Amino acid sequence: MTDIGNVADDEVAPAGGGPLVVLENVNKHFGELHVLKDINLTINRGEVVVVIGPSGGGKSTLCRSINRLEPIDGGTILLDGKKLPSEGKELARLRADVGMVFQSFNLFAHKTILENVTLGPIKVRKRGKQEAEKHAMELLDRVGIAAQAQKFPAQLSGGQQQRAAIARALAMKPKVMLFDEPTSALDPEMVKEVLDVMTGLAQEGMTMIVVTHEMGFARRAAQKVVFMADGQVVEESTPEEFFTNARTDRAKDFLSKIL
Ligand code: ADP
Ligand code: MG
Repeated sequence: MTDIGNVADDEVAPAGGGPLVVLENVNKHFGELHVLKDINLTINRGEVVVVIGPSGGGKSTLCRSINRLEPIDGGTILLDGKKLPSEGKELARLRADVGMVFQSFNLFAHKTILENVTLGPIKVRKRGKQEAEKHAMELLDRVGIAAQAQKFPAQLSGGQQQRAAIARALAMKPKVMLFDEPTSALDPEMVKEVLDVMTGLAQEGMTMIVVTHEMGFARRAAQKVVFMADGQVVEESTPEEFFTNARTDRAKDFLSKIL
């Protein structure tokens, strides 16, 4: 089996396979607050898109709307050509196709690392326990924490917990992986071990949407940088272009603060 067989759905086509996630005129309000303003964005198969921008700009809401953790109130989101269902079995199935990794790990505290990784495949994908455990151990090995399989989340370092969260998301064989500031809560010495896992995934052709301020990762792994501010996509360009030659004052101002 090739490496990618471990992480991606067998049907996932290699990079260049056309649009996988398409947002068309997506709008979202929280009461009076207009958090997503006419977002148009296409993420192609095998593409890594880094979303960057000031706090409060709508990056997390964008991620959450892609797997329906947040309902949108205008526009459409297509996943693999299909409109996002709003409820029921279809929604569970859709969620399983979108792997999500949060800043705060969100592991189940009272389950072992192995149980954290096998739970979704057994419950949602209806895999047998043995098969799920075998696949989970392969994934834990891949993210470098197979030795921690029988431990509970609190017994792991932050970097190890985040790698467990990545393994858990991969266990569902998602079509796309969303990362919302996956390294922001980590001590500096643990950032690299998580970014290395993500870079490996990117190299194997996983489609990824990554909210991060890690410039090194963006330069190394991303095909596209999306700069978001005030609920809008302000710039969309290659990492090279964005970091050396941002077009808008807003992006330039943001970059001057973080670089
Ligand atoms: P970012 O991830 O770019 O920091 P968010 O998507 O978290 O931005 O937030 C965008 C805006 O929406 C912010 O003003 C935030 O306070 C607001 N917001 C986010 N979640 C909620 C919520 N559940 N209810 C009300 N306002 C929210
Ligand atoms: Mg956020």
